[in-house]
Amino acid sequence: MPDSAGALVSIDRVHAARAVAAELGVDVVVLTPGSDLRYLCGYDAHAMERLTALAVPRSGEPLLVVPRLEAPMVDASPAGALGLELLAWDETDDAFALLAREVTARLGTAPTRVAVGARTWAEHALGVHRALPGSALELATPVLDRLRMVKTPAEVEELAAAGAAIDRVHARMGEWLRVGRTEAEVGADIAAAILAEGHVGVDFTIVGSGPNGASPHHELSDRVVQAGDLVVVDIGGETATGYRSDCTRTYVVGGEPGAEVTEWYAVLQDAQEAAVAAVRPGVTAEQVDAVARDRITAAGWGEHFIHRTGHGIGLDTHEAPYIVAGNDLPLEAGMAFSVEPGIYLAGRVGARIEDIVVCTDEGVRVLNQGPRGLVVLPG
Ligand code: ZN
Ligand code: ZN
Repeated sequence: MPDSAGALVSIDRVHAARAVAAELGVDVVVLTPGSDLRYLCGYDAHAMERLTALAVPRSGEPLLVVPRLEAPMVDASPAGALGLELLAWDETDDAFALLAREVTARLGTAPTRVAVGARTWAEHALGVHRALPGSALELATPVLDRLRMVKTPAEVEELAAAGAAIDRVHARMGEWLRVGRTEAEVGADIAAAILAEGHVGVDFTIVGSGPNGASPHHELSDRVVQAGDLVVVDIGGETATGYRSDCTRTYVVGGEPGAEVTEWYAVLQDAQEAAVAAVRPGVTAEQVDAVARDRITAAGWGEHFIHRTGHGIGLDTHEAPYIVAGNDLPLEAGMAFSVEPGIYLAGRVGARIEDIVVCTDEGVRVLNQGPRGLVVLPG
């Protein structure tokens, strides 16, 4: 496993973004703190009102605009080793005007198509726009998704390490998930374990017991786990290099599942396994969704599978490609995403099985292990 983010990032990513921008006719890509900026140059900047922005014009050298007081933080990050031109601005400078001047100089003319990050704050996007009269704003998503969707082998290993870390948390679930404890109590223990098992941050802890399991994005509540409950546990965190884990298992606590649950859970497990097995280059994202959905629908439970089959994962927990009907994107080796069908009986009970997988030249690599059947805990 690479020992630092420095091994993951190179100036090639910025140059690749420039090439895609040129191909798409975008004059300049402007990215502010967030995963796009971290992906391209390794700078994990915190978002605030002062402008930090990586500007990548379609010709000429990219530049990183930063408040002067934060310039040392760039040097201390992997971005410091990339040879990026740094434009440090002082407290009374107009940072947007400086950015606009530099970009215009590089292009030899004022840009007309300015692409900003999808999660760039509105005040920054509008500040850039105002400083470049005559330009039109658009999202940089087509540029960034093209690059971020296909992981390098080093990135895949980061995701594999994150997956192994979250698997270790699931393997310890019997220590915490017990009859008589609240979801919140269980969730606090899980959060501590996510950190103890190799993450630097907890992204989410979903403990959906009994009827709460029927709400896919339920987080935690004061509900007390009852004997015989099905409990959906969907957890994930961030590793030191910024890559994410995300894995769901469904448990039965202090009892055995009833016959109806056993029947539809078998359908769910078969659908998840079949969708994973369908992953290979050339298959489209929506075809993977259809494999899971068709099986669940054929068994009569289709109306209870109320979300897409999966989402890409990398420096964000949810990113392209989305595994959903209508997305005819062909999969390529290096694409990493979740396969997570669920069946939810509103107000009663639910279950989901989620693994992170990577499309490979040969087919698929699954980054989560651990039993996918209903795991019975003693309670
Ligand atoms: Zn999840
Ligand atoms: Zn997920």
